[in-house]
Amino acid sequence: MTLKIEEKLYQNRYRVAEGEPHVCIDPSKADSEALKAMVNICPAGCYVATDEGKVEVVPDGCLECGTCRIVCQGTGALQWGYPQGGYGILFKFG
Ligand code: SF4
Repeated sequence: MTLKIEEKLYQNRYRVAEGEPHVCIDPSKADSEALKAMVNICPAGCYVATDEGKVEVVPDGCLECGTCRIVCQGTGALQWGYPQGGYGILFKFG
């Protein structure tokens, strides 16, 4: 049986802490090459390229894999932390 990544991701559940994103971009560095790379790297598709050549992040479906934290390490472009207790991803549905 072949399963698409979108179908597998659909089996996860998220609890979003409204107004308290755990991944944030420094707006002054939103055009950095590291962030642009994340548009293709993030397994959950949280990074989106804008028409202005910048990158935005919507971490609601974040898998908390830490890849963006490593890719952007040392650039100052990203603030990353785990969601507060009780929020974030739940992996027990798939
Ligand atoms: S931690 Fe992983 S899933 Fe979450 S935004 Fe970064 S790369 Fe995407």
